[in-house]
Amino acid sequence: MTSSADAGLNLDPAELAKFSALAHRWWDPQSDFKPLHDINPLRLGWIEDALKLGAKRVIDVGCGGGILAESLALRGAQVTGIDLAEKPLTVARLHLLETGAQVDYQLISAEQMAAAQAGQFDAVTCMEMLEHVPDPASIMQACADLLKPGGQAFFSTLNRNPKSYLMAVIGAEYVLKMLPKGTHDYARFIKPSELAQMARAAGLEVTGFKGMSYHPLRKTYSLGQDISVNYLMQTRKP
Ligand code: SAH
Repeated sequence: MTSSADAGLNLDPAELAKFSALAHRWWDPQSDFKPLHDINPLRLGWIEDALKLGAKRVIDVGCGGGILAESLALRGAQVTGIDLAEKPLTVARLHLLETGAQVDYQLISAEQMAAAQAGQFDAVTCMEMLEHVPDPASIMQACADLLKPGGQAFFSTLNRNPKSYLMAVIGAEYVLKMLPKGTHDYARFIKPSELAQMARAAGLEVTGFKGMSYHPLRKTYSLGQDISVNYLMQTRKP
């Protein structure tokens, strides 16, 4: 995989600009971020099934406006949120004033954070982010490095196959208009086997997969066995 030419940093400026441009509406549950609001209780429940959040140190990589990070904090975790887009972080910090939650939000890359705070976290979450970066394997390695031995990392992304193209790009962006056109770049979608391989190469054990499906008629999401489009992967550092 190739890294961005951008000063050797593993980022795509166009991706960060997209999220910054929409950031002011991050916490509006009817905005372009509606899918993140809708899936949040599901992924939070899935994480809590694997990990008692109380007093755990958790880092949310690619936290954006903080939907997951803040909910982890409200469940008792001590949360750090990092992202490379400035506006979503500003929105995330402002939202803390509304809820009284405490999250330490920082503009820093996963790789730089891993160099500074290796082995410091009980858990890492990295959701809906890997499909927006030039070198996801490098993010995976950083997530592994951030964990204490025995710590767990949780990822979610989009599978790459004709069905996921149809559902996540054509369906979500063009037919249902749930997401702005150009939100997702199909070439960056990641097959579960590829994600598992990245995890193992980073020294993580893969402990489970979950599928996340959207039901267009009911307009709801559910967790299940179908990992053909949206899916989550759970890992553990030995
Ligand atoms: N993880 C959050 C937000 C997902 S949106 C959630 O699921 O609720 C994707 C986020 O990834 C955006 O906030 C975007 O700014 C961030 N992102 C994209 N490329 C990044 C990079 N190279 N490093 C850190 N964050 C990145």
